[in-house]
Amino acid sequence: MPTEAGTPFSDLVELTHRLESTTKRLEKRKLIAEFLRRLPREEVGPAVLIAIGRIFPEADQKALNVGWATLQKALSSARQARLDARPLTILDVNRAFEGIAAASGADSVRARLRLLASLLGQATDPEREVLMKSIFGEMRIGVNEGVMLEGIADAAGVDADAVRAAHMVLGDLGRVAEVALSGGATGLADLQLRLFSPVKPMMAETADDLDEVLKEHGGTTAVEFKFDGARIQIHRQGDAVRVFSRRLTDVTESVPEVVEFARTVPATSFLLEGEVVAMDDRGRPRPFQELMRRFRRVHEIEALRREIPLRLYLFDVLYLEGRSLIPVPYRYRWAALEALVQADVLAKRIVTQSRAEIEAFLKEAMEAGHEGLMAKQLDAPYSVGKRGKKWFKIKPADTLDVAILAAEWGHGRRTGTLSNYWLGVRDGDGWQMIGKTFKGLTDQERRDLMERLMALKTREEPWVVHVRPEVVVAIAYNEIQRSPHYESGFALRFARVARVRDDKDPGEADTYDRLKELYAKQFERKGAAYDEA
Ligand code: AMP
Repeated sequence: MPTEAGTPFSDLVELTHRLESTTKRLEKRKLIAEFLRRLPREEVGPAVLIAIGRIFPEADQKALNVGWATLQKALSSARQARLDARPLTILDVNRAFEGIAAASGADSVRARLRLLASLLGQATDPEREVLMKSIFGEMRIGVNEGVMLEGIADAAGVDADAVRAAHMVLGDLGRVAEVALSGGATGLADLQLRLFSPVKPMMAETADDLDEVLKEHGGTTAVEFKFDGARIQIHRQGDAVRVFSRRLTDVTESVPEVVEFARTVPATSFLLEGEVVAMDDRGRPRPFQELMRRFRRVHEIEALRREIPLRLYLFDVLYLEGRSLIPVPYRYRWAALEALVQADVLAKRIVTQSRAEIEAFLKEAMEAGHEGLMAKQLDAPYSVGKRGKKWFKIKPADTLDVAILAAEWGHGRRTGTLSNYWLGVRDGDGWQMIGKTFKGLTDQERRDLMERLMALKTREEPWVVHVRPEVVVAIAYNEIQRSPHYESGFALRFARVARVRDDKDPGEADTYDRLKELYAKQFERKGAAYDEA
Protein backbone atom coordinates (compact mmCIF):
# COMPACT_ATOMS: atom_id res chain seq x y z
CA MET A 1 0.00 0.00 0.00
CA PRO A 2 1.15 3.59 -0.58
CA THR A 3 3.10 5.01 2.32
CA GLU A 4 3.88 8.65 2.86
CA ALA A 5 6.95 8.33 0.68
CA GLY A 6 4.88 6.76 -2.10
CA THR A 7 3.93 3.29 -3.24
CA PRO A 8 6.73 0.79 -2.64
CA PHE A 9 8.41 -0.50 -5.79
CA SER A 10 7.95 -3.98 -4.34
CA ASP A 11 4.16 -3.63 -4.88
CA LEU A 12 4.80 -3.15 -8.57
CA VAL A 13 7.19 -6.09 -8.63
CA GLU A 14 4.54 -8.19 -6.97
CA LEU A 15 2.02 -7.08 -9.59
CA THR A 16 4.35 -8.19 -12.39
CA HIS A 17 4.69 -11.61 -10.72
CA ARG A 18 0.95 -11.98 -10.42
CA LEU A 19 0.50 -10.94 -14.03
CA GLU A 20 3.05 -13.50 -15.11
CA SER A 21 1.38 -16.27 -13.16
CA THR A 22 -1.89 -16.08 -15.03
CA THR A 23 -2.58 -16.56 -18.72
CA LYS A 24 -6.14 -15.26 -18.47
CA ARG A 25 -6.48 -11.91 -20.16
CA LEU A 26 -9.48 -10.86 -18.10
CA GLU A 27 -7.68 -11.69 -14.90
CA LYS A 28 -4.70 -9.60 -16.00
CA ARG A 29 -6.98 -6.67 -16.82
CA LYS A 30 -8.52 -6.89 -13.39
CA LEU A 31 -5.17 -7.00 -11.60
CA ILE A 32 -3.94 -3.99 -13.53
CA ALA A 33 -7.13 -2.01 -13.00
CA GLU A 34 -7.12 -2.63 -9.25
CA PHE A 35 -3.48 -1.70 -8.98
CA LEU A 36 -3.72 1.50 -11.00
CA ARG A 37 -6.82 2.70 -9.21
CA ARG A 38 -5.07 2.91 -5.90
CA LEU A 39 -1.99 4.74 -7.13
CA PRO A 40 -1.56 8.47 -6.56
CA ARG A 41 -1.71 10.34 -9.85
CA GLU A 42 1.99 11.01 -10.25
CA GLU A 43 2.85 7.34 -9.93
CA VAL A 44 0.48 6.11 -12.63
CA GLY A 45 2.65 6.96 -15.62
CA PRO A 46 5.92 5.53 -14.30
CA ALA A 47 4.18 2.37 -13.02
CA VAL A 48 2.52 1.70 -16.37
CA LEU A 49 5.78 2.13 -18.26
CA ILE A 50 7.74 -0.15 -15.95
CA ALA A 51 5.02 -2.82 -16.06
CA ILE A 52 5.16 -2.97 -19.85
CA GLY A 53 8.94 -3.13 -19.85
CA ARG A 54 9.70 0.42 -20.87
CA ILE A 55 11.77 2.93 -19.04
CA PHE A 56 10.74 5.97 -21.03
CA PRO A 57 7.79 6.59 -23.32
CA GLU A 58 8.50 5.65 -26.92
CA ALA A 59 7.64 9.19 -28.01
CA ASP A 60 10.48 10.60 -25.89
CA GLN A 61 13.23 8.66 -27.62
CA LYS A 62 15.23 8.90 -24.46
CA ALA A 63 17.63 6.14 -23.51
CA LEU A 64 19.57 5.16 -20.41
CA ASN A 65 22.84 4.82 -22.34
CA VAL A 66 24.10 2.18 -20.00
CA GLY A 67 26.39 -0.42 -21.51
CA TRP A 68 27.14 -3.89 -20.34
CA ALA A 69 30.41 -2.91 -18.69
CA THR A 70 28.80 -0.15 -16.61
CA LEU A 71 26.02 -2.46 -15.53
CA GLN A 72 28.49 -5.13 -14.44
CA LYS A 73 30.39 -2.63 -12.35
CA ALA A 74 27.20 -1.20 -10.89
CA LEU A 75 26.04 -4.68 -9.93
CA SER A 76 29.23 -5.60 -8.15
CA SER A 77 29.31 -2.40 -6.12
CA ALA A 78 25.58 -2.80 -5.44
CA ARG A 79 26.21 -6.19 -3.89
CA GLN A 80 28.50 -4.57 -1.34
CA ALA A 81 25.96 -1.88 -0.51
CA ARG A 82 24.12 -1.68 2.79
CA LEU A 83 20.83 -3.42 2.74
CA ASP A 84 19.34 -1.38 5.53
CA ALA A 85 18.45 1.32 3.02
CA ARG A 86 14.93 2.71 2.87
CA PRO A 87 12.66 0.60 0.63
CA LEU A 88 12.48 1.84 -2.93
CA THR A 89 9.34 3.51 -4.17
CA ILE A 90 8.02 3.60 -7.72
CA LEU A 91 8.96 7.28 -7.91
CA ASP A 92 12.49 6.59 -6.64
CA VAL A 93 13.01 4.21 -9.53
CA ASN A 94 11.58 6.67 -11.99
CA ARG A 95 13.78 9.49 -10.67
CA ALA A 96 16.88 7.30 -10.80
CA PHE A 97 16.19 6.39 -14.44
CA GLU A 98 15.65 10.06 -15.32
CA GLY A 99 18.92 10.96 -13.63
CA ILE A 100 20.87 8.26 -15.46
CA ALA A 101 19.47 9.32 -18.83
CA ALA A 102 20.21 12.98 -18.11
CA ALA A 103 23.88 12.40 -17.26
CA SER A 104 25.99 14.03 -19.92
CA GLY A 105 29.41 15.52 -20.45
CA ALA A 106 32.88 14.26 -19.78
CA ASP A 107 32.09 12.50 -16.56
CA SER A 108 28.80 10.98 -17.65
CA VAL A 109 29.92 7.35 -17.67
CA ARG A 110 30.98 7.63 -14.05
CA ALA A 111 27.84 9.55 -13.09
CA ARG A 112 25.64 6.89 -14.65
CA LEU A 113 27.58 4.18 -12.88
CA ARG A 114 27.15 5.89 -9.52
CA LEU A 115 23.40 6.39 -9.96
CA LEU A 116 22.88 2.89 -11.20
CA ALA A 117 24.92 1.34 -8.39
CA SER A 118 22.94 3.28 -5.83
CA LEU A 119 19.62 2.21 -7.37
CA LEU A 120 20.61 -1.45 -7.58
CA GLY A 121 22.10 -1.25 -4.09
CA GLN A 122 18.78 -0.24 -2.60
CA ALA A 123 16.85 -2.93 -4.44
CA THR A 124 15.97 -6.35 -3.05
CA ASP A 125 16.73 -9.37 -5.23
CA PRO A 126 13.31 -9.61 -6.90
CA GLU A 127 13.31 -5.84 -7.43
CA ARG A 128 16.75 -5.98 -8.94
CA GLU A 129 15.61 -8.64 -11.36
CA VAL A 130 12.84 -6.40 -12.67
CA LEU A 131 15.22 -3.42 -12.90
CA MET A 132 17.77 -5.41 -14.87
CA LYS A 133 15.16 -6.58 -17.33
CA SER A 134 13.93 -3.03 -17.85
CA ILE A 135 17.45 -1.76 -18.37
CA PHE A 136 18.03 -4.31 -21.07
CA GLY A 137 14.66 -3.66 -22.61
CA GLU A 138 13.97 -7.35 -22.61
CA MET A 139 11.06 -7.13 -20.27
CA ARG A 140 9.15 -10.28 -20.78
CA ILE A 141 7.82 -9.55 -17.34
CA GLY A 142 4.50 -7.95 -16.70
CA VAL A 143 2.23 -7.56 -19.68
CA ASN A 144 2.19 -6.41 -23.25
CA GLU A 145 0.85 -3.03 -24.30
CA GLY A 146 -2.46 -4.44 -25.50
CA VAL A 147 -3.43 -5.89 -22.13
CA MET A 148 -2.14 -2.83 -20.31
CA LEU A 149 -4.28 -0.64 -22.50
CA GLU A 150 -7.38 -2.63 -21.56
CA GLY A 151 -6.41 -2.57 -17.89
CA ILE A 152 -6.12 1.21 -18.06
CA ALA A 153 -9.56 1.42 -19.69
CA ASP A 154 -11.05 -0.72 -16.89
CA ALA A 155 -9.35 1.31 -14.20
CA ALA A 156 -10.69 4.55 -15.64
CA GLY A 157 -14.08 3.14 -16.61
CA VAL A 158 -13.69 4.18 -20.25
CA ASP A 159 -13.77 2.42 -23.58
CA ALA A 160 -10.56 0.60 -24.62
CA ASP A 161 -10.82 2.23 -28.06
CA ALA A 162 -10.61 5.68 -26.50
CA VAL A 163 -7.41 4.65 -24.72
CA ARG A 164 -6.02 3.15 -27.92
CA ALA A 165 -6.75 6.30 -29.94
CA ALA A 166 -5.10 8.50 -27.31
CA HIS A 167 -2.08 6.22 -27.26
CA MET A 168 -1.71 6.59 -31.01
CA VAL A 169 -1.67 10.35 -30.68
CA LEU A 170 0.63 10.60 -27.68
CA GLY A 171 2.90 7.59 -28.07
CA ASP A 172 3.17 7.45 -24.29
CA LEU A 173 1.02 4.89 -22.53
CA GLY A 174 2.03 6.20 -19.11
CA ARG A 175 0.72 9.65 -19.86
CA VAL A 176 -2.41 8.20 -21.46
CA ALA A 177 -3.10 6.24 -18.28
CA GLU A 178 -2.64 9.34 -16.19
CA VAL A 179 -5.08 11.31 -18.33
CA ALA A 180 -7.60 8.45 -18.43
CA LEU A 181 -7.60 8.08 -14.66
CA SER A 182 -7.76 11.75 -13.87
CA GLY A 183 -9.87 13.07 -16.75
CA GLY A 184 -11.84 10.04 -17.93
CA ALA A 185 -13.36 9.93 -21.41
CA THR A 186 -13.42 13.72 -21.76
CA GLY A 187 -9.75 13.97 -20.84
CA LEU A 188 -8.86 11.39 -23.49
CA ALA A 189 -10.99 13.09 -26.13
CA ASP A 190 -9.10 16.32 -25.47
CA LEU A 191 -5.89 14.60 -26.50
CA GLN A 192 -7.11 14.18 -30.05
CA LEU A 193 -5.26 15.98 -32.75
CA ARG A 194 -6.18 19.64 -32.82
CA LEU A 195 -5.26 22.04 -35.55
CA PHE A 196 -2.66 24.67 -34.59
CA SER A 197 -1.28 22.46 -31.92
CA PRO A 198 1.78 20.80 -33.51
CA VAL A 199 2.01 17.03 -33.76
CA LYS A 200 5.21 15.17 -32.90
CA PRO A 201 6.54 13.82 -36.19
CA MET A 202 6.79 10.14 -37.00
CA MET A 203 10.42 9.07 -37.34
CA ALA A 204 12.34 6.57 -39.42
CA GLU A 205 14.96 3.97 -38.65
CA THR A 206 18.06 3.59 -40.74
CA ALA A 207 17.72 0.57 -43.00
CA ASP A 208 20.30 -2.13 -42.57
CA ASP A 209 19.83 -3.33 -46.11
CA LEU A 210 17.08 -3.36 -48.71
CA ASP A 211 16.11 -6.96 -48.07
CA GLU A 212 15.33 -6.01 -44.50
CA VAL A 213 13.09 -3.19 -45.76
CA LEU A 214 11.10 -5.46 -48.05
CA LYS A 215 10.84 -8.15 -45.40
CA GLU A 216 9.69 -5.78 -42.65
CA HIS A 217 7.14 -4.23 -44.97
CA GLY A 218 5.66 -7.55 -45.99
CA GLY A 219 7.11 -7.76 -49.50
CA THR A 220 5.82 -4.42 -50.83
CA THR A 221 6.95 -0.97 -49.85
CA ALA A 222 6.46 2.60 -51.00
CA VAL A 223 9.69 4.50 -51.54
CA GLU A 224 9.81 8.26 -51.70
CA PHE A 225 12.68 10.60 -52.43
CA LYS A 226 14.28 11.75 -49.18
CA PHE A 227 14.85 15.48 -49.45
CA ASP A 228 17.63 17.20 -47.58
CA GLY A 229 15.64 20.07 -46.26
CA ALA A 230 13.59 21.01 -43.24
CA ARG A 231 10.53 19.11 -42.20
CA ILE A 232 7.40 21.18 -41.71
CA GLN A 233 3.76 20.65 -40.85
CA ILE A 234 1.20 23.02 -42.30
CA HIS A 235 -2.02 23.61 -40.37
CA ARG A 236 -4.91 25.42 -41.98
CA GLN A 237 -8.42 26.24 -40.84
CA GLY A 238 -10.28 28.59 -43.15
CA ASP A 239 -7.85 31.44 -43.84
CA ALA A 240 -5.70 30.82 -40.80
CA VAL A 241 -2.43 29.04 -41.58
CA ARG A 242 0.43 28.12 -39.25
CA VAL A 243 3.60 26.25 -40.07
CA PHE A 244 5.60 24.29 -37.49
CA SER A 245 9.11 22.84 -37.59
CA ARG A 246 10.14 19.33 -36.75
CA ARG A 247 10.82 20.53 -33.21
CA LEU A 248 7.31 21.94 -33.10
CA THR A 249 8.40 25.58 -33.23
CA ASP A 250 6.17 28.02 -35.08
CA VAL A 251 8.10 29.00 -38.23
CA THR A 252 5.17 30.55 -40.14
CA GLU A 253 6.89 33.93 -40.61
CA SER A 254 9.96 32.36 -42.24
CA VAL A 255 8.07 30.62 -45.02
CA PRO A 256 5.57 33.01 -46.63
CA GLU A 257 5.47 31.01 -49.85
CA VAL A 258 4.30 27.94 -47.95
CA VAL A 259 1.53 29.99 -46.35
CA GLU A 260 0.47 31.27 -49.77
CA PHE A 261 0.51 27.77 -51.16
CA ALA A 262 -1.60 26.44 -48.26
CA ARG A 263 -4.31 28.99 -49.00
CA THR A 264 -4.63 27.66 -52.57
CA VAL A 265 -5.27 24.07 -51.49
CA PRO A 266 -8.94 23.26 -52.16
CA ALA A 267 -10.02 22.32 -48.62
CA THR A 268 -11.05 24.29 -45.56
CA SER A 269 -9.15 22.43 -42.88
CA PHE A 270 -6.09 20.23 -43.01
CA LEU A 271 -2.70 19.33 -41.60
CA LEU A 272 -0.16 18.50 -44.27
CA GLU A 273 3.40 17.36 -43.75
CA GLY A 274 6.38 17.80 -46.03
CA GLU A 275 9.89 19.03 -46.51
CA VAL A 276 11.04 22.45 -47.72
CA VAL A 277 14.24 22.58 -49.71
CA ALA A 278 16.27 25.57 -50.91
CA MET A 279 16.68 25.57 -54.69
CA ASP A 280 19.29 26.98 -57.02
CA ASP A 281 18.51 28.57 -60.42
CA ARG A 282 18.70 25.23 -62.15
CA GLY A 283 16.17 23.69 -59.81
CA ARG A 284 18.70 21.61 -57.88
CA PRO A 285 18.68 21.49 -54.09
CA ARG A 286 21.16 23.78 -52.34
CA PRO A 287 23.10 22.81 -49.22
CA PHE A 288 21.16 22.52 -46.01
CA GLN A 289 23.11 25.39 -44.41
CA GLU A 290 21.69 27.83 -46.95
CA LEU A 291 18.18 26.75 -46.18
CA MET A 292 18.90 27.48 -42.54
CA ARG A 293 19.48 31.14 -43.35
CA ARG A 294 15.81 31.30 -44.21
CA PHE A 295 14.87 30.02 -40.78
CA ARG A 296 17.28 32.15 -38.82
CA ARG A 297 16.32 35.40 -40.45
CA VAL A 298 13.54 37.40 -38.80
CA HIS A 299 13.75 40.57 -40.84
CA GLU A 300 13.75 41.21 -44.56
CA ILE A 301 12.24 37.85 -45.29
CA GLU A 302 11.02 39.15 -48.63
CA ALA A 303 14.57 39.88 -49.89
CA LEU A 304 15.81 36.52 -48.73
CA ARG A 305 12.83 34.86 -50.31
CA ARG A 306 14.06 36.02 -53.70
CA GLU A 307 17.64 35.06 -52.95
CA ILE A 308 16.88 31.58 -51.60
CA PRO A 309 13.62 30.33 -53.07
CA LEU A 310 12.04 27.36 -51.35
CA ARG A 311 10.50 24.34 -52.88
CA LEU A 312 7.91 22.29 -51.00
CA TYR A 313 7.50 18.52 -51.26
CA LEU A 314 4.53 17.06 -49.41
CA PHE A 315 4.51 13.49 -48.16
CA ASP A 316 1.66 13.14 -45.67
CA VAL A 317 -1.74 14.39 -44.54
CA LEU A 318 -2.72 13.94 -40.89
CA TYR A 319 -6.00 15.80 -40.76
CA LEU A 320 -8.55 16.66 -43.39
CA GLU A 321 -11.93 18.43 -43.26
CA GLY A 322 -12.53 17.89 -39.57
CA ARG A 323 -11.16 14.38 -39.33
CA SER A 324 -7.92 13.02 -37.93
CA LEU A 325 -6.17 10.66 -40.35
CA ILE A 326 -3.61 9.53 -37.78
CA PRO A 327 -5.06 6.04 -37.34
CA VAL A 328 -5.61 5.68 -41.11
CA PRO A 329 -3.14 3.50 -43.06
CA TYR A 330 -0.52 5.42 -45.02
CA ARG A 331 -1.81 4.13 -48.38
CA TYR A 332 -5.12 5.97 -47.81
CA ARG A 333 -3.44 9.05 -46.42
CA TRP A 334 -1.33 9.19 -49.56
CA ALA A 335 -4.40 8.72 -51.76
CA ALA A 336 -6.09 11.61 -49.93
CA LEU A 337 -2.99 13.77 -50.38
CA GLU A 338 -2.76 12.90 -54.07
CA ALA A 339 -6.38 13.90 -54.58
CA LEU A 340 -5.83 17.18 -52.75
CA VAL A 341 -2.72 18.74 -54.30
CA GLN A 342 -0.96 18.99 -57.68
CA ALA A 343 1.52 16.27 -58.52
CA ASP A 344 4.45 18.72 -58.59
CA VAL A 345 4.28 19.40 -54.84
CA LEU A 346 4.23 15.69 -53.99
CA ALA A 347 7.32 13.74 -53.03
CA LYS A 348 8.39 11.56 -55.93
CA ARG A 349 7.40 8.00 -55.12
CA ILE A 350 7.06 4.44 -56.37
CA VAL A 351 5.43 1.37 -54.86
CA THR A 352 7.55 -1.69 -55.42
CA GLN A 353 8.38 -5.26 -54.49
CA SER A 354 11.76 -5.25 -56.09
CA ARG A 355 15.17 -4.60 -54.62
CA ALA A 356 16.53 -3.66 -58.04
CA GLU A 357 13.80 -1.06 -58.50
CA ILE A 358 14.63 0.48 -55.13
CA GLU A 359 18.31 0.62 -56.10
CA ALA A 360 17.50 2.31 -59.40
CA PHE A 361 15.20 4.78 -57.64
CA LEU A 362 17.92 5.53 -55.07
CA LYS A 363 20.29 6.30 -57.92
CA GLU A 364 17.73 8.60 -59.48
CA ALA A 365 17.23 10.43 -56.17
CA MET A 366 20.99 10.89 -55.69
CA GLU A 367 21.47 12.09 -59.25
CA ALA A 368 18.76 14.69 -58.71
CA GLY A 369 20.79 15.93 -55.73
CA HIS A 370 18.66 14.47 -52.93
CA GLU A 371 19.72 12.60 -49.85
CA GLY A 372 18.34 9.12 -50.39
CA LEU A 373 14.98 7.43 -50.00
CA MET A 374 12.34 6.85 -47.39
CA ALA A 375 10.59 3.49 -47.47
CA LYS A 376 7.13 3.44 -45.93
CA GLN A 377 4.90 0.56 -45.04
CA LEU A 378 1.59 0.92 -46.81
CA ASP A 379 -0.64 -0.24 -43.97
CA ALA A 380 0.97 1.69 -41.16
CA PRO A 381 -0.96 4.35 -39.29
CA TYR A 382 0.94 7.55 -38.49
CA SER A 383 2.78 6.84 -35.24
CA VAL A 384 3.03 10.20 -33.54
CA GLY A 385 6.52 10.92 -32.24
CA LYS A 386 7.67 7.36 -32.74
CA ARG A 387 10.69 5.94 -34.47
CA GLY A 388 10.24 2.48 -35.91
CA LYS A 389 10.53 0.15 -38.84
CA LYS A 390 7.32 1.34 -40.50
CA TRP A 391 9.48 4.05 -42.03
CA PHE A 392 13.04 3.36 -43.08
CA LYS A 393 15.57 5.84 -44.32
CA ILE A 394 17.78 4.55 -47.07
CA LYS A 395 21.03 6.30 -47.77
CA PRO A 396 24.03 5.16 -49.74
CA ALA A 397 26.48 3.66 -47.24
CA ASP A 398 29.60 5.54 -46.15
CA THR A 399 32.92 3.76 -45.81
CA LEU A 400 35.96 4.02 -43.58
CA ASP A 401 39.28 2.24 -44.02
CA VAL A 402 40.18 0.58 -40.73
CA ALA A 403 42.67 -2.01 -39.51
CA ILE A 404 41.75 -5.35 -37.99
CA LEU A 405 43.02 -5.41 -34.39
CA ALA A 406 41.79 -8.84 -33.37
CA ALA A 407 39.25 -11.46 -34.37
CA GLU A 408 36.95 -13.79 -32.46
CA TRP A 409 36.39 -17.46 -33.09
CA GLY A 410 33.00 -17.97 -34.72
CA HIS A 411 29.99 -19.93 -33.57
CA GLY A 412 27.65 -22.26 -35.46
CA ARG A 413 28.43 -22.36 -39.15
CA ARG A 414 31.56 -20.33 -38.45
CA THR A 415 33.02 -22.55 -35.74
CA GLY A 416 36.73 -22.94 -36.28
CA THR A 417 37.11 -19.74 -38.28
CA LEU A 418 37.98 -16.30 -37.12
CA SER A 419 34.95 -14.29 -37.98
CA ASN A 420 34.13 -11.34 -35.76
CA TYR A 421 36.73 -8.72 -36.59
CA TRP A 422 37.68 -5.94 -34.17
CA LEU A 423 37.99 -2.70 -36.06
CA GLY A 424 40.29 0.19 -35.28
CA VAL A 425 41.15 3.64 -36.57
CA ARG A 426 44.62 5.12 -36.25
CA ASP A 427 45.32 7.37 -33.26
CA GLY A 428 48.91 8.59 -33.29
CA ASP A 429 51.03 5.50 -32.76
CA GLY A 430 48.13 3.48 -31.42
CA TRP A 431 44.67 2.36 -32.42
CA GLN A 432 41.15 3.13 -31.24
CA MET A 433 38.59 0.42 -31.48
CA ILE A 434 35.29 1.48 -33.03
CA GLY A 435 33.34 -1.72 -33.41
CA LYS A 436 33.23 -5.30 -34.56
CA THR A 437 31.70 -7.02 -37.53
CA PHE A 438 31.35 -10.50 -38.96
CA LYS A 439 29.37 -9.33 -41.96
CA GLY A 440 30.24 -8.82 -45.59
CA LEU A 441 32.71 -11.57 -46.53
CA THR A 442 32.10 -14.87 -48.25
CA ASP A 443 33.19 -18.08 -46.49
CA GLN A 444 36.18 -18.36 -48.80
CA GLU A 445 37.25 -14.75 -48.19
CA ARG A 446 36.94 -15.33 -44.46
CA ARG A 447 39.18 -18.38 -44.66
CA ASP A 448 41.81 -16.48 -46.65
CA LEU A 449 41.71 -13.64 -44.20
CA MET A 450 42.06 -16.03 -41.28
CA GLU A 451 45.26 -17.38 -42.69
CA ARG A 452 46.70 -13.88 -42.89
CA LEU A 453 45.51 -12.97 -39.41
CA MET A 454 46.96 -16.11 -37.81
CA ALA A 455 50.34 -15.13 -39.22
CA LEU A 456 50.00 -11.76 -37.49
CA LYS A 457 48.96 -13.20 -34.11
CA THR A 458 50.45 -11.46 -31.06
CA ARG A 459 48.53 -13.21 -28.29
CA GLU A 460 45.43 -15.32 -27.81
CA GLU A 461 42.60 -15.43 -25.29
CA PRO A 462 39.97 -18.18 -25.22
CA TRP A 463 37.77 -16.45 -27.78
CA VAL A 464 39.97 -13.79 -29.27
CA VAL A 465 43.11 -13.76 -31.35
CA HIS A 466 44.93 -10.43 -31.15
CA VAL A 467 46.93 -9.49 -34.21
CA ARG A 468 49.38 -6.89 -35.42
CA PRO A 469 47.16 -4.27 -37.07
CA GLU A 470 48.33 -4.78 -40.63
CA VAL A 471 45.26 -5.82 -42.57
CA VAL A 472 43.22 -2.87 -43.77
CA VAL A 473 39.57 -3.33 -44.68
CA ALA A 474 37.03 -0.88 -46.08
CA ILE A 475 34.03 -0.91 -43.76
CA ALA A 476 30.64 0.21 -44.98
CA TYR A 477 28.40 1.59 -42.24
CA ASN A 478 25.20 3.55 -41.88
CA GLU A 479 26.02 5.82 -39.00
CA ILE A 480 28.67 6.70 -36.44
CA GLN A 481 27.19 6.52 -32.97
CA ARG A 482 28.30 7.50 -29.51
CA SER A 483 29.01 4.31 -27.59
CA PRO A 484 29.99 3.50 -24.04
CA HIS A 485 31.28 0.08 -25.14
CA TYR A 486 34.60 1.23 -26.51
CA GLU A 487 37.18 3.52 -25.07
CA SER A 488 37.11 5.50 -28.30
CA GLY A 489 33.57 6.52 -27.33
CA PHE A 490 32.23 5.65 -30.78
CA ALA A 491 30.82 2.72 -32.66
CA LEU A 492 29.85 2.14 -36.28
CA ARG A 493 26.23 1.19 -36.82
CA PHE A 494 25.63 -1.69 -39.24
CA ALA A 495 29.28 -2.15 -40.03
CA ARG A 496 30.12 -4.69 -42.72
CA VAL A 497 33.30 -5.42 -44.62
CA ALA A 498 32.99 -3.90 -48.09
CA ARG A 499 36.36 -5.23 -49.22
CA VAL A 500 39.85 -6.05 -48.08
CA ARG A 501 42.16 -3.18 -49.02
CA ASP A 502 45.28 -4.96 -50.09
CA ASP A 503 46.34 -1.74 -51.71
CA LYS A 504 46.63 0.07 -48.36
CA ASP A 505 49.14 -0.02 -45.55
CA PRO A 506 47.96 0.40 -41.97
CA GLY A 507 49.64 3.82 -42.05
CA GLU A 508 47.01 4.84 -44.58
CA ALA A 509 44.03 3.72 -42.54
CA ASP A 510 41.57 6.42 -41.49
CA THR A 511 42.33 8.24 -38.26
CA TYR A 512 40.51 8.83 -35.01
CA ASP A 513 40.41 12.54 -35.81
CA ARG A 514 38.74 11.86 -39.11
CA LEU A 515 36.19 9.65 -37.38
CA LYS A 516 35.35 12.45 -34.97
CA GLU A 517 35.06 14.87 -37.86
CA LEU A 518 32.66 12.56 -39.69
CA TYR A 519 30.65 12.17 -36.50
CA ALA A 520 30.37 15.94 -36.08
CA LYS A 521 29.30 16.28 -39.71
CA GLN A 522 26.38 13.96 -39.20
CA PHE A 523 24.96 16.63 -36.93
CA GLU A 524 25.88 19.66 -38.93
CA ARG A 525 23.20 18.82 -41.40
CA LYS A 526 20.18 18.40 -39.18
CA GLY A 527 21.75 19.98 -36.18
CA ALA A 528 21.16 22.78 -33.80
CA ALA A 529 20.47 25.52 -36.33
CA TYR A 530 17.17 24.15 -37.49
CA ASP A 531 16.21 22.54 -34.23
CA GLU A 532 16.34 25.94 -32.65
CA ALA A 533 14.32 27.49 -35.45
P1 AMP B 1 16.82 11.90 -40.52
O1 AMP B 1 16.74 13.36 -40.17
O2 AMP B 1 18.06 11.50 -41.21
O3 AMP B 1 16.44 11.04 -39.34
O4 AMP B 1 15.68 11.61 -41.60
C1 AMP B 1 14.33 11.83 -41.36
C2 AMP B 1 13.94 13.17 -41.96
O5 AMP B 1 13.96 13.11 -43.38
C3 AMP B 1 12.54 13.59 -41.66
O6 AMP B 1 12.42 14.13 -40.39
C4 AMP B 1 12.27 14.61 -42.74
O7 AMP B 1 12.75 15.88 -42.33
C5 AMP B 1 13.17 14.17 -43.87
N1 AMP B 1 12.48 13.72 -45.09
C6 AMP B 1 12.86 14.03 -46.33
N2 AMP B 1 12.08 13.46 -47.25
C7 AMP B 1 11.14 12.76 -46.58
C8 AMP B 1 10.03 11.94 -46.98
N3 AMP B 1 9.75 11.71 -48.26
N4 AMP B 1 9.29 11.38 -45.99
C9 AMP B 1 9.59 11.60 -44.69
N5 AMP B 1 10.61 12.35 -44.26
C10 AMP B 1 11.39 12.93 -45.18
